[in-house]
Amino acid sequence: MKKKTVRDIDVTGKRVLLRADLNVPFVPGTTTIADDSRIQAVMPTLKYLKKRQARIVLCSHLGRPGGKVAKELRMTPIAFRLEALLGEPIIYVRECVGSLVRQAAEELQEGQVLLLENLRFHEEEEANDSAFAQALASLGDVYVNDAFGAAHRAHASIAAVTRYLPAVAGLQMEKEMRMLSSALDNPARPLGAVIGGAKVSEKIGILENLLQRVNRLFIGGGLAATFFKAQGHDMGSSLVEPERLGLALDILRNAAQLGVQVFLPQDVVVAEAVVPEAPARTVEVGRVPGGWHLVDIGPRTAQLFGKELRLCRTVVWNGPMGVFEFPRFATGTKAVAETLADLNGAITVVGGGSTAEAVEELGLAHSMNHVSMGGGASLEFMEGRELPGIANLLDKDAA
Ligand code: ADP
Ligand code: MG
Repeated sequence: MKKKTVRDIDVTGKRVLLRADLNVPFVPGTTTIADDSRIQAVMPTLKYLKKRQARIVLCSHLGRPGGKVAKELRMTPIAFRLEALLGEPIIYVRECVGSLVRQAAEELQEGQVLLLENLRFHEEEEANDSAFAQALASLGDVYVNDAFGAAHRAHASIAAVTRYLPAVAGLQMEKEMRMLSSALDNPARPLGAVIGGAKVSEKIGILENLLQRVNRLFIGGGLAATFFKAQGHDMGSSLVEPERLGLALDILRNAAQLGVQVFLPQDVVVAEAVVPEAPARTVEVGRVPGGWHLVDIGPRTAQLFGKELRLCRTVVWNGPMGVFEFPRFATGTKAVAETLADLNGAITVVGGGSTAEAVEELGLAHSMNHVSMGGGASLEFMEGRELPGIANLLDKDAA
């Protein structure tokens, strides 16, 4: 179902309650912003609204203060960064509801931005509390959700608030929905999915949903170990989920029935321990030494995946191919990222927090058609689940 966006409504001069995902990472132990991509991501919507003289009431959560005020999680550093990016002062109030906030919202001039305090200083936010949502809603005439990264949370500023105001998507949210849903619902085929990460149990939803949609499925990462174990291979001390062996076989059986071509690794990198400097070598699947751990796909597999991925016209990717945090075990992940970055004439969509991080670290994010900033939300989207932050927005064809 297509959703209305900020482009579909009249915002001129209106008071807009804008929910963003300004939950930036800090340099550990400080309030120095380590990466401001999430702030950058809301700039197009902010500028769009400012141009139309909207009065913008901007809000977000930050970290996990657990319903109490936590000094180190105030929005102050974000306020400064917003001012730097906008090139003008904004108003920042150290509360998100109450009479002072109400007054500040009422006094907003056209095109001005008012930043509210961390929503999670109130436990009502995560409890999806109606009264709290109503108090937030009273600050605006319309509600714009540009927080795709929080869209999977049924929290007051995401879900309950939409009961009280007309709700539409911001421009970043629109882009996330468009890119993810076109790749999954209406892709140029063949559609390939590359799935990695640590565990099968974390990828069941995505594997089951994608099986119904893809033409080719590439499985790497730690979860491959459970598939191999299910096929009767000895996986040494690799992370195997014994209670998921049946599920792994079901997935392979379903794939065969659905005509989905599955590619599993042929050679794998194994290490004596999962630590950066551990002795490591490449072996054929089926020859994992006792006590050793699967840590990456091997070079032949990387080549095979590369060759077969090049035949796809759309590729979605979630989950690193190995323990990419350690450079020696990042080779397979790098190879897949480079293949996707080089795919000419194909659409490439990357989702998942760690996968996005890997692609960014490699400097290849701009070579993909879309790298979701959604983390957990992108994962749930790829699982085919309904996200509260999207479901509650007005439908495009509604009056
Ligand atoms: P995303 O956040 O993109 O959804 P995941 O969180 O599922 O991705 O997977 C990332 C994690 O998977 C990384 O921490 C990585 O170290 C781990 N991983 C990948 N391959 C292996 C492996 N062979 N053994 C153990 N962990 C692995
Ligand atoms: Mg992750």
